[in-house]
Amino acid sequence: MLLVEELAALTAPERVSTKLADREQAARDESSCAPVLPDVVVWPLSTEEVSRVVCYASAHEIPLTARGAGSSLEGNPIPVHGGIVLDLSRMDRIVAVHAEDLQVTVQPGIVYNRLNEQLKPYGLFFPPSPGGSADVATIGGMVANNASGIYSVKYGGTREHVKAATVVTGTGEVLRLGTRCRKTSSGYHLLGLLVGSEGTLAIATELTLALVGLPQGRKQGAFTFPSEQAAVTAIATMMRYGVDLAAAEFLDRRSIAALNRFQGFGLEEKPSLFVEVHGSPSSVEEVFASAQALCEEHGGTLIVLPGGRNPWEVRHFTTRAIQALNPQAQTIRTDLGFPISRLPDVVAESYAIAARYGVVLYTFGHAGLGILHALLREDPRDLVRWAAANRAKDDIVSFVLSMGGTASGEHGIGLGSRKYVRQEHGAALELMKGIKRLFDPKNILNPGKIWSDEA
Ligand SMILES: Cc1cc2nc3c(=O)[nH]c(=O)nc-3n(C[C@H](O)[C@H](O)[C@H](O)COP(=O)(O)OP(=O)(O)OC[C@H]3O[C@@H](n4cnc5c(N)ncnc54)[C@H](O)[C@@H]3O)c2cc1C
Repeated sequence: MLLVEELAALTAPERVSTKLADREQAARDESSCAPVLPDVVVWPLSTEEVSRVVCYASAHEIPLTARGAGSSLEGNPIPVHGGIVLDLSRMDRIVAVHAEDLQVTVQPGIVYNRLNEQLKPYGLFFPPSPGGSADVATIGGMVANNASGIYSVKYGGTREHVKAATVVTGTGEVLRLGTRCRKTSSGYHLLGLLVGSEGTLAIATELTLALVGLPQGRKQGAFTFPSEQAAVTAIATMMRYGVDLAAAEFLDRRSIAALNRFQGFGLEEKPSLFVEVHGSPSSVEEVFASAQALCEEHGGTLIVLPGGRNPWEVRHFTTRAIQALNPQAQTIRTDLGFPISRLPDVVAESYAIAARYGVVLYTFGHAGLGILHALLREDPRDLVRWAAANRAKDDIVSFVLSMGGTASGEHGIGLGSRKYVRQEHGAALELMKGIKRLFDPKNILNPGKIWSDEA
């Protein structure tokens, strides 16, 4: 009881809750990781309130986990040690639009799509649009996970757009990191450490983002291919030749079939590639023609989606469509990143590994960015198949790491990919732990993430 009263005094009584329904909502994300109930949920409204709550948590050594929308896919915001969940979703204001500098300063709880809606009148947008979660993901969560999305092929991921931040460290100290300058050579790049740190180093309470102009012209298209290999080889070739695509999304034939079952789209059940080109009205035609020619060289056919649908309307449902195929099953997910030239090898080897273990694989992702999600769906009660699918995942990740890839292209490590971190980072993991101690000496911020407590 003391905890609640003291937190209420630091914030407001109506913004502190121990109700089971609130704790249950804060216990989970969109992954298959087991939920863990926090003791209390707090909704701060300002940097000062965040600082006060963190100071209190630090003084009493209470674990504290930041939360945006909870749309992570690796258990990132699950409060595995209980304690306080600091839900930042009510800090959702635009603080300032610096239109002449192509920048915006926001509170962390603003949702991606809402930010872009509000930037439209300025002719600007924040581009790293996460495919299926743009309608829920908060900017704070995107920064903490270094999220990316369909337009990251042309414009980069979240990291490339974060210019400055106000943060609260694990001691409650408020720091301003980065600068609104276009370029700086001043001191260590501490802001870079914040991006992708999954709320383990500091809580972001204000973020300044670099924006880009809304394209004058855009053209979208969909292609089907005779095989998965043909489709991904076409993507790798387009990237190698510098075809200036804004988006290049790959979906294997099983993902397309799942979309048909989920939404009745009536798509041709063939490996598919969705592309979008941005530029001046004349340049988009030229770039699109190059993309089409290269796709056709690899057996691709330009198609019109049934009902003249927008490709992203279809793509949006991919994760949910695969999940809906077997609601009893859980997802065993990979979030592979690799040099783009190796995309065809990653796809071929992933299917070969899945076949070796007798499990069914679905592949899709921001392939033009060198990111692929190879998903397995199995019922954990079938112990043999569950173990086989997990071994298949391990082998696929090992293969990708062996070619200089990464275990997480965009979702973060969270809980789900912790076991690969030492394999990927080796001795550098000890440096990461040292950095964590500097920001958060009592290990209260989102403890148990990125590496396990014992690692
Ligand atoms: C259907 C679906 C599709 C998706 N597609 C994509 C995709 O295309 N690309 C992609 O990158 N991701 C994707 N995701 C994953 C997810 O949406 C993103 O990682 C998103 O950025 C998470 O934002 P959130 O607000 O939900 O954060 P949360 O899940 O609430 O939190 C994410 C992490 O950030 C920390 N955190 C949150 N706010 C702060 C803060 N203010 N300061 C410090 N730490 C903080 C949390 O502790 C946690 O570790 C998808 C998810 C779903 C369900």
